[in-house]
Amino acid sequence: MTAPEAAASTELRELYRELILDHARHPRHFGTLESATHSADGVNPLCGDRLQLHLRVAGGDVAEASFEGTGCAISMASASLLTETVPGMRAGDAAAFGRRVIRRLRDGLDEPADTDDRLRALEGVREFPSRVKCATLAWHALDAALAGSGTTATTE
Ligand code: ZN
Repeated sequence: MTAPEAAASTELRELYRELILDHARHPRHFGTLESATHSADGVNPLCGDRLQLHLRVAGGDVAEASFEGTGCAISMASASLLTETVPGMRAGDAAAFGRRVIRRLRDGLDEPADTDDRLRALEGVREFPSRVKCATLAWHALDAALAGSGTTATTE
């Protein structure tokens, strides 16, 4: 890596860190969703993160998403990013997308570059294996909500 590349990479990491902190401090779409058609709980016992994800699916599309809960900055930021990312997707595509995000975060697999750029910010957690479950929690809940399993998604 050349010096300019290293500087750009540091700059990018800093940008991503700020994005995570911004979403953690000011979560988007935080609260219940009156018209929700799908909901699921998610728990990450390792960190103590708990959240409830709500979706309104209309005509096969995810029309709205919101979440409630308490947890660390990474879990809250990840849920916040989720609620900004999945509306507009077909429900089936959103479920598949969520599973890809989990694989990327957990296994570091290179997936086609169709992932929303903002989600790259979450990939920094791969350096901290114990935090990966914080980052994937909301996405497990997304899968559970769309599957309509009515169960609690857990990272364990
Ligand atoms: Zn956490």
